[in-house]
Amino acid sequence: MYKWIEINLDAIKENYLKVRDFVREETKILGVVKADAYGHGIIEVSRELENQGIDYLGVTEISEGIQLREAGINVPILVFGPFLPEDIYYIKEFDLTVSLADLKSIKLIKDKGVKVKTHIKLETGLGRTGIKYTQLDEMVGLLKNDENIEVEGIYTHLATAMWDNLSFTMQQYSEFLKAIEFIESKGFIIPVKHICNSAALAKFPEMHLDMVRAGTILYGQEVAGKQDFHGQLINAWALKGQITYLNELPKGHSIGYERAHILKKNSKTAIVPVGFSHGFSVEPIPRPGGVMDLIKILGKTILRYLDHSRVKTYVKIRDKYVPIIGKVGMQMTILDVSDIPDIKIGEIVELPGRRTNISPTLPKVFMKEGKPIRVRKITEKYEEISMAAK
Ligand SMILES: *Cc1c(COP(=O)(O)O)cnc(C)c1O
Repeated sequence: MYKWIEINLDAIKENYLKVRDFVREETKILGVVKADAYGHGIIEVSRELENQGIDYLGVTEISEGIQLREAGINVPILVFGPFLPEDIYYIKEFDLTVSLADLKSIKLIKDKGVKVKTHIKLETGLGRTGIKYTQLDEMVGLLKNDENIEVEGIYTHLATAMWDNLSFTMQQYSEFLKAIEFIESKGFIIPVKHICNSAALAKFPEMHLDMVRAGTILYGQEVAGKQDFHGQLINAWALKGQITYLNELPKGHSIGYERAHILKKNSKTAIVPVGFSHGFSVEPIPRPGGVMDLIKILGKTILRYLDHSRVKTYVKIRDKYVPIIGKVGMQMTILDVSDIPDIKIGEIVELPGRRTNISPTLPKVFMKEGKPIRVRKITEKYEEISMAAK
């Protein structure tokens, strides 16, 4: 198969059960499966979570919700992102729960007169989407006694839950509680209140409220900061490829584009057919969040320039770590395999990857009890555009 992504569904189940164990029995769990379940395969992951009895699933877009319903997923699905007027029909048709993030969308649903389930999304500091404190009075006026709009929940999203400094998280939490208090003082009671993402659910049990929204943690990625899950989560994702070519090159030979690497000794090299067109070794470089962040990024860049072993990327072959040398190409990466003299064509290499960056077009192999049970291959599909739509 040359290259594929291996997904351990048992790991996702175990991580879910750990979260289930950790939160109070009456606290619901929403599994976040947006962005193809963070690169783990939205349908398979959602099925596994549904089988484990998860209460809700969460996605960003209406289309992701439709995909889940078409695959036969029956648990409630909360769509976090905003929707367009033309989506109203689909929301009802596919029984999706939508986020009310402004007064306009509330009015839109009222105008259409369709029955929908909703959660109110409040702005408390993330500055993305959400109803503001000053709009709550009007909001309650629009929603109270409306027969069509069922307000099942209310939530907000944290901006800095990954930080050790808690002050902004605490500020957002208290803004959230203050807004709920105001709404309830108007006699409008909302059953499901939620604020925690993975980092917050691991660090602040007192904030669990009626539901937690778990993403990162379900996939076995450590969440930043001091918390109770360190070393307990199981990684669910691996990028794998096979060696397709072996070579021997002398000391002084250059490797790859721009001669970015020069061999320091006679070496054995190998090709693995994965490159930046598959999203491999593509790292987002966001604007630094502060001076410390800036220094860290600069330091890393300098070490990388010096080809320092601390910033080299290593791949795993038979439990050995071997370095990538030269620049990663579009579809090929060069390895220095001198330390594995008996290496063979076809051997399996495990590569590190940023899971939400790796191309969803790579086949996904789903594993249970250590055995592959299913492969997802994405094949090209074309739809004709009808004359009327043009
Ligand atoms: C992505 C997302 C989450 C999950 O975040 P993690 O840090 O991955 O747990 C929770 N809530 C909302 C609204 C999100 O968009």
